[in-house]
Amino acid sequence: MEHKLTIYNTLSRKKEQFIPVHNNLVGMYVCGPTVYGDAHLGHARPAITFDLLFRYLQKLGYKVRYVRNITDVGHLEHDADEGEDKIAKKARLEQKEPMEVVQYFLNRYHKNMEDLNVLPPSIEPHASGHIIEQIEFTQKILDAGYAYVSEGSVYFDVEKYNKDFNYGKLSGRNIDELLETTRELDGQSEKRRSMDFALWKKAQPEHIMRWPSPWSDGFPGWHMECSAMGCKYLGEEFDIHGGGMDLMFPHHECEIAQSTAALGKESVHYWMHNNMITINGQKMGKSLGNFITLEELFTGNHKLLAQAYSPMTIRFFILQAHYRSTVDFSNEALQASEKGLQRLMEAYERLGKLTASAASTVDVKGLREKCDEAMNDDLNSPIAISHLFDACKSINSISDGKATISAEDLEELKSVFKLYIEDIFGLKTDAKSDAGTDAYKKAIDLLLNIRLEAKRNKDWGTSDKIRNELTALGFSIKDTKDGFEWSL
Ligand code: ZN
Repeated sequence: MEHKLTIYNTLSRKKEQFIPVHNNLVGMYVCGPTVYGDAHLGHARPAITFDLLFRYLQKLGYKVRYVRNITDVGHLEHDADEGEDKIAKKARLEQKEPMEVVQYFLNRYHKNMEDLNVLPPSIEPHASGHIIEQIEFTQKILDAGYAYVSEGSVYFDVEKYNKDFNYGKLSGRNIDELLETTRELDGQSEKRRSMDFALWKKAQPEHIMRWPSPWSDGFPGWHMECSAMGCKYLGEEFDIHGGGMDLMFPHHECEIAQSTAALGKESVHYWMHNNMITINGQKMGKSLGNFITLEELFTGNHKLLAQAYSPMTIRFFILQAHYRSTVDFSNEALQASEKGLQRLMEAYERLGKLTASAASTVDVKGLREKCDEAMNDDLNSPIAISHLFDACKSINSISDGKATISAEDLEELKSVFKLYIEDIFGLKTDAKSDAGTDAYKKAIDLLLNIRLEAKRNKDWGTSDKIRNELTALGFSIKDTKDGFEWSL
């Protein structure tokens, strides 16, 4: 396939020409949410970053199999090897089935993603639905000699692995440093070394989420699900693995070690990491009181927020920064994005109403190439957006009668705007507020009630006029025995 896409590979620490394993099918795996609470800003950034990549790869002509997992077991509060599963804990506290908790937060996550116009992935596998695959993957690592069983749990032998391969190559950590910085074992631990991580963990009696395995009744270690499910759905070797920078160590480092140990080769060709989000210059955290959920952002219901911000404002704000740069959320920055988005969408609407002249007095040629060039340079969305803003100035002067555009240029401008605004950036005019939607529904009901009354009074003229004109506007009206039903 002809294209010039380069992406920054965290593994090689440089931009590389993107060449997929298969000719026109791209395999892409992104670490998805742990569903034990509402989605927050930290969830929006990877979702939007990899949605942009998903959309752009498709624009280049690839078929993309995008796998984004749901972590619903084994992600523990402080240490991946100890403590209680967050979902199990929540379930115990709220007297719910763990899957009830998972489903509740997953439904809310999906609603948030839909609001942000993030396309659903091709496959969304649950960790809890792939226990057999995780047991098999763990067995492969044991068979290869890079893991050991201790008291019913299975641990990865980091030191042995490091002798044959290079542990720490993604995050750039040195194993000797790790040995020094990780706490010494007190001799009570089941692990040989403190940096060894669990592939399978024997469940304590009070642990709710547990499955039988050759080693114990227990549950898989957190890192295991991504190795096992990535391999199952994308094959032993696949193109892209993404996630937030905070997952680079230990999660992705452990994934690389697991896959390499089990398969004898590195699975992933391109590792991509989005940078983190700060709020007013501070890291986001529950203890800092600056933890803002997406729901709170959309409603403005948080003490740090001066107003509500629409999902499209949030999306645009994230796209206005390069995914490898940090992003700082503040009311001022969000308000600037809101204004910018409005300017862009207004120009886009004006573009639809422009009429062509014999010749162009504005130069809009090369816009497509400039936007493509920015995106091919490691998805540089802020630069592509700045090119669109330049074109907005031309649109506005044509609209004001100060400039003209030829039919050919107009066609091309419309096509580039549609491609970039709608298909690649996934921007749309914000849905009307609930109040607006409500009033609109009431207005249609009112018209149809007038029609009903006209029919009762045998005023066929009025009744037909209302029906015909609403139908012409695209409404479908059905008479029922109780009155009517309508849809648009
Ligand atoms: Zn993962």
